[in-house]
Amino acid sequence: MSRPLSDHEKRKQISVRGLAGVENVTDLKNNFNRHLHFTLVKDRNVATKRDYYFALANTVRDHLIGRWIRTQQHYYEKDPKRVYYISLEFYMGRALQNTMVNLALENACDEAMYQVMNTPIGVRGGLSGGKHGRLSCFLDSMATLGLAAYGYGIRYEFGIFNQKIVSGWQVEEADDWLRYGNPWEKARPEYMRPVHFYGRTEHHPDGVKWVDTQVVLALPYDTPVPGYRNNVVNTMRLWSAKAPCEFRLQDFNVGGYVEAVLDKNLAENISRVIMGKELRLKQEYFVVAATLQDIIRRYKTSKFGSMEAVRTDLDGLPNKVAIQLNDTHPALAIPELMRVLVDEEMLTWENAWDICVRTCAYTNHTVLPEALERWPIDLFQQLLPRHLEIIYEINRPPPYSSEGGQKRVNMAHLCIVGSHAVNGVARIHSDILKATVFKDFYEMDPYKFQNKTNGITPRRWLVMCNPGLAEVIAERIGDDFIRDLDQLKKLIKFVNDDAFIRDVAKVKQENKMKFAVHLEEHYKVKINPNSMFDLQVKRIHEYKRQLLNCLHIITFYNRIKKEPNKHWTPRTIMIGGKAAPGYHTAKMIIRLITAIGEIVNNDPVVGDRLKVIFLENYRVTLAEKAIPAADLSEQISTAGTEASGTGNMKFMLNGALTIGTMDGANVEMAEEAGEDNLFIFGMRVDDVEAMDRKGYNALEYYNRIPELKQAIDQIAGGFFSPKQPDLFKDIVSLLMYHDRFKVFADYGDYIKCQEKVSALYKNAKEWTKKVIYNIAGCGKFSSDRTIAQYAREIWGMEPSLEKFPAPDEKR
Ligand SMILES: *Cc1c(COP(=O)(O)O)cnc(C)c1O
Repeated sequence: MSRPLSDHEKRKQISVRGLAGVENVTDLKNNFNRHLHFTLVKDRNVATKRDYYFALANTVRDHLIGRWIRTQQHYYEKDPKRVYYISLEFYMGRALQNTMVNLALENACDEAMYQVMNTPIGVRGGLSGGKHGRLSCFLDSMATLGLAAYGYGIRYEFGIFNQKIVSGWQVEEADDWLRYGNPWEKARPEYMRPVHFYGRTEHHPDGVKWVDTQVVLALPYDTPVPGYRNNVVNTMRLWSAKAPCEFRLQDFNVGGYVEAVLDKNLAENISRVIMGKELRLKQEYFVVAATLQDIIRRYKTSKFGSMEAVRTDLDGLPNKVAIQLNDTHPALAIPELMRVLVDEEMLTWENAWDICVRTCAYTNHTVLPEALERWPIDLFQQLLPRHLEIIYEINRPPPYSSEGGQKRVNMAHLCIVGSHAVNGVARIHSDILKATVFKDFYEMDPYKFQNKTNGITPRRWLVMCNPGLAEVIAERIGDDFIRDLDQLKKLIKFVNDDAFIRDVAKVKQENKMKFAVHLEEHYKVKINPNSMFDLQVKRIHEYKRQLLNCLHIITFYNRIKKEPNKHWTPRTIMIGGKAAPGYHTAKMIIRLITAIGEIVNNDPVVGDRLKVIFLENYRVTLAEKAIPAADLSEQISTAGTEASGTGNMKFMLNGALTIGTMDGANVEMAEEAGEDNLFIFGMRVDDVEAMDRKGYNALEYYNRIPELKQAIDQIAGGFFSPKQPDLFKDIVSLLMYHDRFKVFADYGDYIKCQEKVSALYKNAKEWTKKVIYNIAGCGKFSSDRTIAQYAREIWGMEPSLEKFPAPDEKR
């Protein structure tokens, strides 16, 4: 909301952004003022930007409440099958704008705010309050498809750290995101649940008892998840850990105040941060134990048929409940469900196992061995003694193994044996699972193995973040594509339509100008808005090969220096992403990128033909600004290592072209858009495997390719770190002697492919035509398609685009 719109602009935007009716606007204004006064207890003289944000958030939130209650009532009355999506990572993105888009309130809010404030308010700008981002694609699609779905996870008090770049290095800062409260969540202390840890087991003739445990309380916080304009509002429930009582009075009475508070802190640490070892296993059990209590209570107390009674027959559980395990982090749901069914509900082992397998399903997200969870048996023995016994009884084949003298529980194996469906997240990834890491399991139970290619929500990743492009598309094919992304196919008709080509290019240029302003303010670097915006934004990891990008940058730099008068296609190369705090190599990669930037950006010979920017603190809100401004999307992982990727899809949908390897979902993107419309290079999975058999020798490439040798010698010789010439010696030795991801093997082909990219970019029209083919081929990558497949092929549920009845809006 930045300025009043012309009538023409308003008409254009109505289909995508909702109608700003007078009644609507008046209502919003009144409610905004009411919240500023009664909820925030402020007047206009003392209200801050944050107060205005909160007042607006509360105003918009009010529109959700009736729909939320109605949806939950409807589920109670109709008792449909429910799906529980359990994940330990629900990261956060903007909730306010998402709600406005899904409720068609965006224009009305803009207008109301303009009338009240006479000035823009930072909804899309600096302020972002309550948030949900990562995995919110799936929550958004489940609500949009009318599924009775619940997201379950942990309410982390501190989310993923904020990244600061200080003297070129990553520095982590705590993300105290709840400091000012979160208007989107509602605490539900009445549904608090106990979770047990430690203790021991007692075997009696009538069953097993887990006794002498320590208890932590799980306090749920609910966040509404609105569907796209269908009046459905689902629930995301996140658990927060509470010590059983604020003060343990015995300790307090004998003067042990400090011990009492310390112990309380210990218990509550579970939801404080995302971190390692025992605490991590505790977190995993905590979310699963609390969630299963909720699932079973809801199953038992749902109204079924015309009766309002308590359901006791747990045999019916798989008909009414699907549990989706997002990665192995919630794997303990399997032994925990077994424990509840056998020890508490007194079912036989066989009966319980059948229920468990038919209820649970597992999604794998990586094949990298270091990311597969394997917990030492003795840790299990201490923390969850009963669960260890149950795991020992699940001996078909045993989900534990002996490694280096230490027995460990392999969580992926536990998930596979305890589930009826196992899926990878892109076709190539699902095939690799069957052929390699899970081969034995596949041969035993081939029917379990499936693929569900990932997707992204077109609401957040197009309508919200790139309204200009959404409007240009809607002008040609209407706005049904927002809920049925396959309709983008209709754009093929316009590939040779000069007006459409012009409109698409114009939106991109506007997005670039906006982002350039942001960059210049933030990085004090003069950006050439006519340069190609070349982006690689994703977590920093060896397998994603930011180092390959670095080698291209250095090569391009050296070429400019060698022939400064040639007509080089100017580029602004941006790399962004967080390194895990304990991942030293990833932090060194960041340092290398910033070091290259310091040299390149200050070289007068280069001028504005090459700039290198490290985008600080990459997160959903920054992605929403950066991706719509991108011309080129770098998806350059070693073939066979990226399970799917979702960043690749966001760029494709926002009109960037992809340079990428045949990895993850890139393979299917090439299939959908036509391989000629992407820049595909490098080894295929087969080539990588062949090289593994033969042995990869980086030195061979170094000695054979002069430009590669030059780049490496520069890094090694301190060209980019003159004050500390050996700063990057570890990186150099990694690339030369122990590079698991074979950067040098793809270097030659990558550089050639980048030359093709530069050549095409000179021809704006041909470039934009490829962009249009890409947008037209995006339909498959809607998370609506992904979720519809999960629903039909794993959960036994039928998605529906039917609208729920609107609630009475009288307030
Ligand atoms: C989409 C997204 C990712 C995932 O990117 P990949 O390229 O698929 O690794 C990571 N971080 C943020 C903030 C995102 O929005």
